[in-house]
Amino acid sequence: MELRQIARDVHVCLQEDRGLGCSNSGLVSRGGGLVVDTFWDLPHTRELRSLYASVHPEPVQRVVNTHANGDHCWGNQCFAGAEIIAQRASLQRLARERPEAMEALRGMTGHADPAVAAFAQLLRDWDFRGITPVAPTRLFDESLQLDLDGLQVELLHVGPAHTAEDAIVHLPEPGVVFAGDVVFRLCTPIGWEGSFEVWGRALERIVELEPAVIVPGHGPLCGVEGALEMKAYLEYVRDEARTCFEAELDVAEASRRIDPGPYAGWTEPWRIVFQVERAYRELRGEAWDAPVDAVGLFRIGLSLGAGPPRPPA
Ligand SMILES: [Zn+2]
Repeated sequence: MELRQIARDVHVCLQEDRGLGCSNSGLVSRGGGLVVDTFWDLPHTRELRSLYASVHPEPVQRVVNTHANGDHCWGNQCFAGAEIIAQRASLQRLARERPEAMEALRGMTGHADPAVAAFAQLLRDWDFRGITPVAPTRLFDESLQLDLDGLQVELLHVGPAHTAEDAIVHLPEPGVVFAGDVVFRLCTPIGWEGSFEVWGRALERIVELEPAVIVPGHGPLCGVEGALEMKAYLEYVRDEARTCFEAELDVAEASRRIDPGPYAGWTEPWRIVFQVERAYRELRGEAWDAPVDAVGLFRIGLSLGAGPPRPPA
């Protein structure tokens, strides 16, 4: 992981995109300190914490979670005593979180079911032992303004896009947006409950803020071109999926057939299955929060091939 300063009093910690869970984080070193997102497990978050301590030695007073997927909040307990801030809908997801089940899955690389074994392989760089998901201590609905010793920070709810609770963190001066998983950069997005329409609007909102730097949930830093390209990707997959839906192909066959087109260079192309399923959900007239069969989607996605082998850790 790499600590990088992107503005006065603003650092990011970027994890190289090595597949599932390699998320990014941020630190605002003003007014007691504010961390945007922790990492998926305790060893990675401890490393993150010591990098942040090198530029902000005092304990950080606040952690903001952009959403409640584990790769953005399972490290919360490493910032003991900090206020944990998140959008209200995070509570529902947190209540379903089971790190110990993920740890058990991680050990199943030799499982007889090839999909289970392949999924376990995706988790090989993580260690989910000892995690106790920490619920937010401060919730907001539409927005929350913070004043960090004169530096304004806006938390804006933009979901349901990637999840119901998606929030972005905007620093008007110096012009930084922490986009959470509303922006995946150069890697294929996953999505849970939410709609294409709201996800598109969330991306437009980020562009309208005219940030100089966008910190995506996954992948390298970008400017507004990252949000625009993400929007174009979602529209492309939705349109391609509609054609497949009308041809009565199922989600697996559609995911196999859709040409990645201009996005062929993005990592983890198998994750297209999540957007194809979302498109089918909408074409079937189902609600944005209809339950997502995560196991079934991973099973289809992994049957498409989990992408090129990654370099060793
Ligand atoms: Zn994520």
